[in-house]
Amino acid sequence: MGMTDYDVVVVGARCAGATLATYLARSGASVLLLDKDKQPSDQVVSTHTIHPPGIDVLDEIGVGEAVRQRSPATPTVRLRKNGAAVDFNFQDGRAEYCPRRQRLDGLLQEAAVRAGATFLDRTRVTGLLWDKDRVVGVQAVERGQERIFPTALVVGADGRRSTVADLVAAAEYLAYDAPRAMYWRYWETPGFWNTDSAYSSGMYIGRVGEDIRVVFQTDDNQLLIGSMPPMSRISFWRSEPLERLTHDLVEDPFIRPLIEESRPEGHVRGTVRERYFFRNAAGPGWVLCGDAGHHKDFVIGDGITEALLQAKTLAPAICSGLERSLYRWWRDRDVRALPLFFFAQDEARPGPIPDLVSLAFSHAAREPELKARLARVLEHQLSPYEVFTPGNVFRWALAGALRGRARLLSDFFQMGRRVSEVNRELRARKMLAAKERG
Ligand SMILES: Cc1cc2nc3c(=O)[nH]c(=O)nc-3n(C[C@H](O)[C@H](O)[C@H](O)COP(=O)(O)OP(=O)(O)OC[C@H]3O[C@@H](n4cnc5c(N)ncnc54)[C@H](O)[C@@H]3O)c2cc1C
Repeated sequence: MGMTDYDVVVVGARCAGATLATYLARSGASVLLLDKDKQPSDQVVSTHTIHPPGIDVLDEIGVGEAVRQRSPATPTVRLRKNGAAVDFNFQDGRAEYCPRRQRLDGLLQEAAVRAGATFLDRTRVTGLLWDKDRVVGVQAVERGQERIFPTALVVGADGRRSTVADLVAAAEYLAYDAPRAMYWRYWETPGFWNTDSAYSSGMYIGRVGEDIRVVFQTDDNQLLIGSMPPMSRISFWRSEPLERLTHDLVEDPFIRPLIEESRPEGHVRGTVRERYFFRNAAGPGWVLCGDAGHHKDFVIGDGITEALLQAKTLAPAICSGLERSLYRWWRDRDVRALPLFFFAQDEARPGPIPDLVSLAFSHAAREPELKARLARVLEHQLSPYEVFTPGNVFRWALAGALRGRARLLSDFFQMGRRVSEVNRELRARKMLAAKERG
């Protein structure tokens, strides 16, 4: 890749950037890792549950054990849709973990440095160096000093408001503005959390009507409890987030005892203006990794896992030394990420839950095979659109319609149209990936 100061400059040093830097440095590349903030700093605006495939990546780069020591394992997840609650387990001792980002990101940065990367925090990338249409380095301000860092490849791992993506004018596609905000706070874990069978799942994502609320058990013996109000209600939340959050959370019978019987810690955190997208992820001398290139609705808590998996798969593409491999990686990323992107969009859509979805969940609550399939979605092994077979769903809808719930059949056809739409887009993305492979 030519004679330069560093083989690769990675901009952004959290889930995507620090992990990628570790893989690259381990493979022998000389890597400069930059972050604008003093690190490890307070967490980015994000909750922080990680699905098992993300934990696998943490194990590979040598920080999984440290995460396990600090955060409780969550082998059981509860999903609720109106009256139907499904508890499902991961197989073989696998689990979710929800470490504070400051801790996680600090561990990732230490791993990158241990692997041989040079890490400069408080170094903000402000521009790119160009040779005609090729990026050949970055301009940065390091603790008040202007610096330039020539390189063969710049990786933008600088999050959803990526400076690198802006500077290379990476186009967005399938983009839309978030339909929901999110507010959350931490509470001390009450004693009954570990003894009362009603709380045997360590993670809860509950949707009742158009309200979505979550509970994740995190480190320091605390629970992260939050709510995702639709944007139509946001003006009330903005003016008095603490009152709104408290008022909203007591509406949920699973959450109410948790917040009534324990102490809150710290202030309310939240975000109201998100945008979800894919971005063109590669060009001459640059590539985007993690949220910089692809951001999906937080409702399914998958962004960290996605960023870790992207770092793992991008590293060999970079190490091949062939720019073509970066374009292939981009197209493969889209094929892999697309079903969960659309699913997150569907899960977050405001409005009532279709009756057929609640009915399907009530079947899942009774059928171990369906529970296992839900776990495989969070394992990134099964498309969320393949959990329920069309034959089964049609039978449930028809049986309900014959008992007077005609609405179930129209739900069925509407869901079928959505699955066709997802499959059409997936086929188009697969064709682009195949074309890139030649
Ligand atoms: C409300 C909310 C809740 C979420 N909850 C979850 C969840 O529970 N589980 C989950 O898996 N995901 C969740 N996500 C998504 C998750 O936060 C992201 O997908 C993840 O942080 C992406 O990691 P990243 O490394 O790509 O970017 P980031 O974590 O955003 O890191 C980017 C880094 O780049 C640095 N940077 C930015 N600009 C520059 C610059 N010009 N120069 C140098 N450095 C720069 C920043 O300082 C930052 O450290 C949530 C997101 C939101 C908004």
